[in-house]
Amino acid sequence: MSVFDAAAFRQQFPFFREQPTWIYLDNAATTHKPQVVIDSLVKFYQHDNSNVHRGTHQLSQQATSQFEEARRTVQQFINAAEPAEIVFTSGTTAAFNQLAFGLMHTILQAGDRILISALEHHANIVPWQLHCQQHGVIIDVIPLTVDRQLDQAAYQTLLERKPKIVSLTQVSNALGNVLPLAQMLSDAKAAGAMTIVDGAQGIAWQRPDVQKLPADFYCFSAHKLYGPTGIGVLYGKRAFLERLIPLHGGGEMIEHVSFSGSRFNSLPARLEAGTPHIAGAQGLAQAIKFISGFDAQQINSYKGLLLKAFHNGLQHIPGIQLLSSRHDNAGIVTLNIQGEHPADVAALLNEQHIAVRAGSHCAMPLFEQLAAPGALRFAFAPYNQLTEVEQCLAALAQAVEILTV
Ligand code: PMP
Repeated sequence: MSVFDAAAFRQQFPFFREQPTWIYLDNAATTHKPQVVIDSLVKFYQHDNSNVHRGTHQLSQQATSQFEEARRTVQQFINAAEPAEIVFTSGTTAAFNQLAFGLMHTILQAGDRILISALEHHANIVPWQLHCQQHGVIIDVIPLTVDRQLDQAAYQTLLERKPKIVSLTQVSNALGNVLPLAQMLSDAKAAGAMTIVDGAQGIAWQRPDVQKLPADFYCFSAHKLYGPTGIGVLYGKRAFLERLIPLHGGGEMIEHVSFSGSRFNSLPARLEAGTPHIAGAQGLAQAIKFISGFDAQQINSYKGLLLKAFHNGLQHIPGIQLLSSRHDNAGIVTLNIQGEHPADVAALLNEQHIAVRAGSHCAMPLFEQLAAPGALRFAFAPYNQLTEVEQCLAALAQAVEILTV
């Protein structure tokens, strides 16, 4: 069996040639971009720049056809039934804001319940809160077990309250847990709920087949999948997208406008008001083509090796308090060093050009439950190397020494 060629993968990313001193372990925040993605952005602005869906001129027609081609690339990648089920947004956060606004007026009535989990990112908490109180909708939360997994027994009990919506992350950005999504979503469907998946972290771990996964909506951001920032996807099954009230009004999303009212366009334009991130959509398509050239299982096994080496090394460093899961982990290690503030450790690592994140990782309610002020997060990508893991472990050991004298 052929193995994943990590060196060949890494070579595609010019950042590592430009900045050879950096060890980049902040991949859960954003990934680096391969040359093909960068080239496609430059090519658009340098050669093809034009607005979409508007012009009769050739440049606009060409930009439109490239933009729609990018939509088809996304459609095929996640196996959506039709291109119209792919709505371009500015990212996962924007997708959730559209969902919370759009469903609150149609699906959710006063007294209804939404069920999320204790692992959620603020993007799957705050947009709901913005509307829930005003509309009398209640948010329930699946708690964690003592070993920081989702409490599946509690989940079953919460489903008995018949939530209208179950909205879950595929992978926790804070603890790395890969959720048993297929089972949880099918239980949610059996309980009569509409299902939403936050795929921001999951998309780079396991590409979803949205026709098999019982997800009515699936959201992700291009920039965590080697694509550009400012572009993301709200996937929805047509019947569910049709029920969303548009969050944004303006050009493109209308069929007819008069001063007395407007008639909306058909999908996906109805949910894409204004000029989209045209270059970004093409960059995302290039990122998808790029990653599709590698075997996802081999990539994940390779990340598993990096993770194992890191976990093994951590055992030799005093005072490490591991918060993330050792198993079913998508490549994110979160920890604290006893008695030390995570930001101090991150600052020492930064001095050695090791990029990690410290804080509550947009999951404040989770860290409150863990009774931790935050944590250090090491998020691995397939371009990371075993030597980098070793260097990082050595730097961490040194930081502990400096801080504890
Ligand atoms: N959900 C999860 C699980 C995330 O990790 C992130 C990004 N940190 C988001 C949502 C929000 O993504 P974006 O900032 O790209 O909108």
